[in-house]
This record gives sequence, structure tokens and C-alpha cells, in this order.
Amino acid sequence: MKIRIIREKKIEAQRFKMPGRNSDFTNVHQPPSNPSKSFSSTLNVFICRQVWESIHRHAEIDMSIEMGGALLGLYGEDNGQPFILVTDVLHQPPQYSADPTMVRFTRQFYDDVEYYMDQLKANNKDILRLGLYHTHPNYGVFMSRTDEQTLKGIFKAPYQIAMVVDPVKREDGVFMMSGQKVTRQQGFKIYDTPKPEYRLHQGQTLNPLIARYNAHLQLDPHRQITPKIPVYTPPNSTPPKTIKTTQNIDKRSKISLRQAQKHTTTPPNSPTTNTDKTKMQVKRLDFIPKICPLFNLRFECRTVTLRKYVRPVKTLVDYYEFPMMLFFEQALVQQLEKQWHHLQNKKMGVLALLLGNSCYDKSQNLYFLELTSLQNEDQMPRSANLYKRLQLLLKDHGLILKNRLLGWVFLTENVPQPLYPLYEPHKHFFKQKHQMGMIVKMQQDHMQMEDTQIIAYDPDYQKAFEYFQHLFLYRRVY
Ligand SMILES: [Zn+2]
Repeated sequence: MKIRIIREKKIEAQRFKMPGRNSDFTNVHQPPSNPSKSFSSTLNVFICRQVWESIHRHAEIDMSIEMGGALLGLYGEDNGQPFILVTDVLHQPPQYSADPTMVRFTRQFYDDVEYYMDQLKANNKDILRLGLYHTHPNYGVFMSRTDEQTLKGIFKAPYQIAMVVDPVKREDGVFMMSGQKVTRQQGFKIYDTPKPEYRLHQGQTLNPLIARYNAHLQLDPHRQITPKIPVYTPPNSTPPKTIKTTQNIDKRSKISLRQAQKHTTTPPNSPTTNTDKTKMQVKRLDFIPKICPLFNLRFECRTVTLRKYVRPVKTLVDYYEFPMMLFFEQALVQQLEKQWHHLQNKKMGVLALLLGNSCYDKSQNLYFLELTSLQNEDQMPRSANLYKRLQLLLKDHGLILKNRLLGWVFLTENVPQPLYPLYEPHKHFFKQKHQMGMIVKMQQDHMQMEDTQIIAYDPDYQKAFEYFQHLFLYRRVY
């Protein structure tokens, strides 16, 4: 399982003159919200005025609940004195936090911040997570025990802080770890600057909710669809003869794939899309209209960054039928790991059929598969032959499962390399394009989701290939 590393390793301060001694910064002063007379010598905190104003504006949106966000910026050193510049902020939409009395930063938000950081880092590689801020409407600036735990747990680097804002009393303050203790810093200063590297950067986010919520920070409005969906652009103008065209794949929601294609983004450098020749060819599939879990606040999603990026085996098939986003319910991981745990002969691996729904989110124009349950082998497998095992499983359960059958999953300590031997059983039993085989590497009794390899078969090209790119773990939060 991937543990996201929130804190960067071995971060060194950059040497440059701090605000007050550097003509790149103007109007350096303590804000009225922070009347502290002295200024800390352990870590000098400087906040870009746009950021500071944005925090207070956000804090005032709803003063009946706690709000919060992430602070990003630079870590510097001037003549042996460490300092930070808070150049950026990303506010967490209040919908994320299920508890109205206490702001809770969700995994989804950390993922959003991660993505946002990556975008900023493309041009400003020194940007760091400097901490979090949250509000205490009308109960003052201090750190509660939960606040301290958060700081101790994930934001304990010498350049990381927690900021608390009371929008009612119009006060704020900055806290950080000093040794094992959380201490309040003696004031901070805000600054203006003409230098773009020291003030709000132009970030992008894939999450429309985050984008809407941070719109005043001028997040790129063109990149609000999650994730980018490539359309089929033929390598040359003559498609293979076996292509069959299907006009309307879904009687229920009347989604014409041609229409769907029209709304997807064409990669900028791709040749002109010839839609007449490139109708998506999904066999009759019953898409259930559903909100994609990424946009449904009842769910918390975690992106699995697949190390083995799933690619077509041959360049001939470098197209996408429809965006194969897979949502793998978190509970299934536990279920599978439990099964693995009880397995007597680990060499046999765990095999199960994957069940779930193929869905379509109309408002986001996204097709996705949600994997919700499993059907595992009833008895101990007698042979390691995957072909035979799949055959037996499908004989027992295949008919009952019908459309719910989305593929199979195999847990093993030794993933065959290359995967070609597994293509054969897959293409024999799983003839639908949306069906997949997932091969998950096991390490110390845990599923290494990042190492998952996903295979699929395209009957039109008569090739097995790998084309699922987006894997998410999701769970219901409320
Ligand atoms: Zn608090």
C-alpha cells in the first residue's frame, strides 16, 4: 500500500536575503491581526499579502464552522537565520469535512494538494508544504490537542507551521514544533513583492470543486476535468478493417459515444480526429448513471499511481475505447488480504472474480467502472494453472454474474514477467472490452497496489493489451 510521504526528506534552506533586508520585498510589516511586539528568531515567518488576505476572506465565508487549507511556499536562510515565505495557499472546500465542529483534512484534500504542488513545482521546484491553517471562529488563537497532534504527526519539519485564524475576533497566530513541544511563534510579517517567484503562483487543479473553491487564486479554468481523457486519434487514416461501428451503446441513458467523444479533450499535439472513422466501439454495455466517486463527497478517493504504466502492447492499439477509470473499493483490499493471510500455499496465489458496475457520470462526461465485490474460489485450488482455475470459477458463478462481471484479480508474490502468459486465459474468458485482469504483487502480506498490472483484450484487434490508466481506491465516508 502506498503511504504518501507528506514531509519532504532532507530539505535544505535556500540562501537569500529575507524580507526587510531584501529590496525584492516591499511593505513588510506585522498585520493588525497579529499585534505581537516581538518577532521570532527561531523561524521568521513571512506571508505574502495576497495569501494572508485570501485566508482571512476564506475564514469569513462561514463563521459557524471551522475552515482550513494548506500553506505552501519557500524555505530560506539568511545569515544563519532560517525563514519561510508562504507564497501559496489552497483552501479545503468545507464540504470535504464531514464534521461541522472541527475541520478535518481529508485524504482527498491531501491528494489535491499533492497534485497542485506538482503543478507548481514544474516551474518552481523549491515549493514546499509549509503546513496548514484552520479557523477557530470566536474562540481564539490557540492549539487544541487535536491540532497539536496533527502538527506533531505530519508537519514537524523545522520549516513547517500551523496557523490558526479567528475570523470573528480578527486574530491570527502561527505555531510550530520546538523540540517535542508545540509553541506559539512570536508574530509574523506580511509582504508585497513585484517578483513572481515570491507570490501566488499560477497553479492548476484537476478537481473542479477545489478549482471553484479557490477560483479567486486564479486556478487555471481550462483544466478542471478529472482526469484528462484522451480520445482515439488514429496513427494513420486507415483503420483496421475489423472495426465495427456502434452508434448508440446505451439505450438507457442514450449516450452516443460520438457525442461523448466530441466533448473529450484532444491532446494538443495529436493529429486531427476523424470521428467518422473512429467511433468508439464498446459492445453493448449497460452503463448505470452515477456520480463518479471523485465528485461525490460521500466518498473518499485515493489515486493509485501505477508504477507499471498500463500501455498498449503494440503501437497499433494506442487508442482508448473510453476512459477506463477503475474505482476499487477499499474494503475489497482488506477482504483480499485476509484471504491471502489464510492461504496455505502462497505459491498458488489468490484468485477471484471482480464484480461491480460500469457507470457513466453525465455531468462530468466520465465513464468508469466501480469494483464493489468479489467471488473467490470455493475450495483450495488443486493446480496453479490460471486458465483452469478461471474456467472453474466462471463455470460455478459466471452465469449468475452476467453484466456484473468486470474481470478477475490475481494476488501473487511472483508476477510473471512479461505478462503475456496471462493474456491467453484472459482473452479466452473475457471478451468484453471493459473487462480486465488485475495482477497484484503481494509483499509482506500486503497488496502492492502501485505495482498492479491490468490487462484487457480487444476483440476487434484480436490483441490483449493494457489500457487502464486510472486506478482509485475509494471508500464511503458518510
Ligand atoms: Zn483547532
